[in-house]
Amino acid sequence: MSDGKRCALVTGGSRGIGAAIARQLAADGWAVAVNYRDDEQGAAETVGAILELGARGCAIQGDVAHPPTADNLVAAAEAELGPVLALVNNAGVHSDGLSATMSDDEFSRVLETNLTAAFRLTRRVLRKMLRARFGRIVSIGSIVGLRGNVGQANYAASKAGLIAMTRTVAAEVARRGITANVVAPGLIDTAMTAPLSQELAGMVPARRAGSPEEVAACVGFLVSEAASYVNGATLVVDGALTA
Ligand code: NDP
Repeated sequence: MSDGKRCALVTGGSRGIGAAIARQLAADGWAVAVNYRDDEQGAAETVGAILELGARGCAIQGDVAHPPTADNLVAAAEAELGPVLALVNNAGVHSDGLSATMSDDEFSRVLETNLTAAFRLTRRVLRKMLRARFGRIVSIGSIVGLRGNVGQANYAASKAGLIAMTRTVAAEVARRGITANVVAPGLIDTAMTAPLSQELAGMVPARRAGSPEEVAACVGFLVSEAASYVNGATLVVDGALTA
């Protein structure tokens, strides 16, 4: 897919699902820019894995919740690796609490990171994608955005918002060869879910948590040429939890 003149940008690629996505896209031939916020060492390890796969890669620090970061990230990725023709909005946080006591700050911080940042990055990369008449945008949602989840009004709203935003963007740009899709994981074994993983795995019909690689494989498909007619979709990856 990559001809040396374009790259994929993965936000939150220092660990977990984002790191697996970065490795998957590198294996698929993309040059990959790996964004991280705090975990410099994790991001360096992801870039190391990309280089070992024979692809080009770089790490770019930036808090996606900070408004100027979208411009800075894309400019840095372009300078290092070429135009960003694939964007994976993966960076995500949660800050759980019941709605009756959730503060404005807890609500808006999660929305800023999970949803508003994804919009700013999408808007920014669309410029070059529209010109190139090619682009792939994949946002990592969650089954919580489809169903809701006690204690996660902020997180659920952010993930539901990603789905609505993606469907709208897809309809706006489909005629220009650009696709926008959501991958909605269920329970995936990462640092985010580590405290709960064992306990919740028994509730999954597959009787296990998914791996970051199983999510990354779906992102790899949606970014590929083979998925050129899949647009505005939400691909659930949850071991039949919501079946
Ligand atoms: P982790 O907590 O393991 O990793 C989160 C990543 O996001 C880290 O690389 C972190 O970087 C980065 N990040 C967080 N906030 C910011 C920010 N403001 N700016 C830039 N980077 C940031 O999470 P997972 O891998 O589990 O989750 C990845 C995505 O998948 C999230 O969107 C999450 O909501 C979603 N998801 C996860 C599920 C699961 O079961 N694990 C289920 C459904 C959805 P750093 O460490 O440098 O701060």
